[in-house]
Amino acid sequence: MKTWHARWALTDDGWLSSANVTVGADGAIASIEAGAAAAGAAPADLLVPGMPDAHCHAFQRGIAGLAERSGDSGGDSFWTWRERMYQAVETLDAATLHDSALALYRELRQRGYTSVAEFHYVHRPGGSSAIETSLALIEAAAAARLRLLLLPVLYRRGGFDGAPLSARQQPFGLALDDYARLLQALAAHRSEAPHLAVGIAPHSLRAVDGADLARMLRLREALLPGCPVHIHVSEQRAEVDAAVERLGSTPIAWLCDNAPVDRSWVLVHATHATAEELRLVRERDAVVCVCPTTEANLGDGAFDIEGWWRAGGALAIGSDSNVGIDPTEELRWLEYQARLRLERRAVLLETGSRHPGTSLWQRAVAGGRRALGGAVDGLAVGAPGELLEIRVSDPTLSPDEAMDDLVFARRTTSLREV
Ligand SMILES: [Zn+2]
Repeated sequence: MKTWHARWALTDDGWLSSANVTVGADGAIASIEAGAAAAGAAPADLLVPGMPDAHCHAFQRGIAGLAERSGDSGGDSFWTWRERMYQAVETLDAATLHDSALALYRELRQRGYTSVAEFHYVHRPGGSSAIETSLALIEAAAAARLRLLLLPVLYRRGGFDGAPLSARQQPFGLALDDYARLLQALAAHRSEAPHLAVGIAPHSLRAVDGADLARMLRLREALLPGCPVHIHVSEQRAEVDAAVERLGSTPIAWLCDNAPVDRSWVLVHATHATAEELRLVRERDAVVCVCPTTEANLGDGAFDIEGWWRAGGALAIGSDSNVGIDPTEELRWLEYQARLRLERRAVLLETGSRHPGTSLWQRAVAGGRRALGGAVDGLAVGAPGELLEIRVSDPTLSPDEAMDDLVFARRTTSLREV
């Protein structure tokens, strides 16, 4: 049990001054008290909930910055970047995956992420087994003090045409029976790893067909009922066009028609979602996980963040390819995309707020917690005791102004793990 005495604490009820926040032995927030005495508590300046990283491929950090060049034809795209990523997989096994994940997870932790959803599809690189690579990630997250939602990915085919996996995609493939055994082993392993939760992840509609998706959902009900379901969807226009051709529908509309999409589902990217698709997703109360630096880096396109925000949609952020690993950079680019499109400022605000810094942080913590399977949103009793301290060198700033500085400028604020 530990208590912090914060000059200001950002709770689900807004900023509380002179607040004592106590985290119990179980790691959850046990009490929050405003206007409390400082005696016996560890001092903190601003105390805020840590940010969940709702979409991460740890091994891709190894090629960040190395794929910034044009191809022979003079252009480059997501698909040529993917070839570079496949080359990186050829150098991996469970031990190197562990080391690269540990280095990345420590960096994520230092920058303000306190939990991570690892979308894990490099199951069998370099002769390692699927359980070995999963355990490598579980150990790396524990060593970096990150809570982990491990999402074993089912990746069954090379495209909508049903092509088999290419030679380079072989490490991603698992037969359904092997996938079931992996899920079973991971579900059992949770009792030995208190930082671990397990979900399921059909890679995308191009990599998993409707029949396999239905089988996965039956496995989920048998082994991990109600666990989070994450899927890449509508990231690239080519993928949307192929879905229309093969499924007769845009991919998110197809999912909502053919799968029990609800608040436990996380749609990763949704970059090219139509207005009607976003209306459907909002109706189902699913989370959209946007990964702005990766989507910009890969030239994916821009998600309709203004529309989703206005609709009150559940929003999470992800470091994804890990070309950017700072949550404030992701949040800043959500707001900047909106400003560039609308030609005005301070767009993404919660009702009654004038400060995008606080609004963005709170919306992404709430959606991220949900994406990782949590029942309580932010800094509230019962929520995970994952806290960050923001130190402010200019005492004249209000806490909202300090959050704006943290997200947009970092002139007078710094972030510290607690
Ligand atoms: Zn991804």
